[in-house]
Amino acid sequence: MTFTLAIVGRPNVGKSTLFNRLVGKRLALVDDQPGVTRDLREGEAKLGNIKFTVIDSAGLEEATDDSLQGRMRRLTERAVEMADVCLFLVDARAGITPSDEVFADILRKKNAHVILAANKSEGRAGEGGYIEAFSLGLGEPIRLSAEHGEGLDELYHILLPLSEQFEERAAADAPEVDVDVEDWDEFEEGEEPEIMMPTESKPLQIAVIGRPNAGKSTLINKIIGEERLLTGPEAGITRDAISVRTTWEDVPMRIFDTAGMRRKGKVNEKLEKLSVADGIRAVKFAEVVVVLLDVSIPFEQQDLRIADLAEREGRAVIVAVNKWDAEDNKQEKLNDLREKFGRLLPQLRGAPMVTVSAKTGKGLDRLHAAIMKAYVTWNRRVSTSALNRWLVGMLEQHPPPAPQGKRIKMRYVTQVKTRPPQFVVMTSHPDKVPESYERYLINGLREDFEMPGTPIRLYLRDQG
Ligand code: GDP
Ligand code: GDP
Repeated sequence: MTFTLAIVGRPNVGKSTLFNRLVGKRLALVDDQPGVTRDLREGEAKLGNIKFTVIDSAGLEEATDDSLQGRMRRLTERAVEMADVCLFLVDARAGITPSDEVFADILRKKNAHVILAANKSEGRAGEGGYIEAFSLGLGEPIRLSAEHGEGLDELYHILLPLSEQFEERAAADAPEVDVDVEDWDEFEEGEEPEIMMPTESKPLQIAVIGRPNAGKSTLINKIIGEERLLTGPEAGITRDAISVRTTWEDVPMRIFDTAGMRRKGKVNEKLEKLSVADGIRAVKFAEVVVVLLDVSIPFEQQDLRIADLAEREGRAVIVAVNKWDAEDNKQEKLNDLREKFGRLLPQLRGAPMVTVSAKTGKGLDRLHAAIMKAYVTWNRRVSTSALNRWLVGMLEQHPPPAPQGKRIKMRYVTQVKTRPPQFVVMTSHPDKVPESYERYLINGLREDFEMPGTPIRLYLRDQG
């Protein structure tokens, strides 16, 4: 991800239409039900070869009363704060309105990097509005038609140099070697490098996954605090936000949930169906996945499937057992949960399991600690010298097999990637190494270098 672009502007200028066009079908939770409005939506956008995050500050279309307008303003300000660049849309057909001036003011005050666009510019009807847009004092507008996909090439040419700038900046920020396993390169020798902790521009990405009613929205609301979500008394405000930004105990985070954040009472089948697919998408974007279980029905099929998916996608996984306040037999239950965890999710061996009460907030500190620990482990990088000393010991303790009398040799091991940790072992006959031996090495890595619960990948390569 290179940079974040926020689409801002008054209602009805075409923000959502543009968002959907940039993000495509992948993320847009399209909804034609009346009364369903949105908080900030985020999606992964692609324009030509430029990839970026886009934030849609639409929502609250039915903003009629003052308090909603106030919220709308706050939403926009938040979108601006989260973004590197703002795309300010005006409606070329309607011309510039006082409301546009208000938005222009917000952007000026926030000192935002603004690209001004006159939307609905297809045909000739937008000429007047386009000329008027210069008067906002935000530079030369570009002509766009979100609905017809016109003007995107111009947007591309404006974003291209920006995206290159951000890429350079990101490269300077992150000395991390990110190599393909196919053309791997070993990491620097010496001390283990420091792990890049989450920052405002690179928040820790978390997905909270679980069956309906597990308590996902209660948990997320507890974490982010009510103020940041639209939980106001206005009827009909629901949220299908794809992610929310927050700071949890000083750590910038982006929490993916999706339909779980909806207010109750609006539940309906269509959104419920969308939420499963969203859960899967959320896993793909997440760094750490919190599988939230309901203590009264833990380890359901759906929970197991999503936990397995998270592991296969190489995410750091934490199991959180919710509604612990409602459990009477805590010790007995804990033993039962541990047994089930080990039996039903062997692929997550060693992953942390914490008990929480989203309702009371009890255990959230432990959940936070578990998340941070998992994140650090997931980013772990072990030096080549330590790995090779370790390999010698492993080979001595339990030599590789010798098919047809010729012992398999393992000469060298190095870590080629983090997030999750990935290792390459150079060996004489990669195809003859039994799976059990691979598991022996992986479990050894996990235990000896303290990487519990993180997926570890091991690749065997022919040493030639
Ligand atoms: P938002 O409130 O800013 O998110 O605006 P929407 O994306 O919901 O669009 C408001 C209305 O403008 C919808 O009826 C869209 O179909 C329409 N619209 C959006 N983009 C264009 C465009 O490029 N040209 C025209 N003519 N209409 C558009
Ligand atoms: P979601 O569908 O996963 O988002 O679940 P909700 O957050 O809407 O919660 C479903 C129900 O479980 C609601 O009635 C909550 O009040 C309740 N709930 C959530 N967390 C807890 C908890 O920690 N303890 C108890 N006793 N109930 C909870």
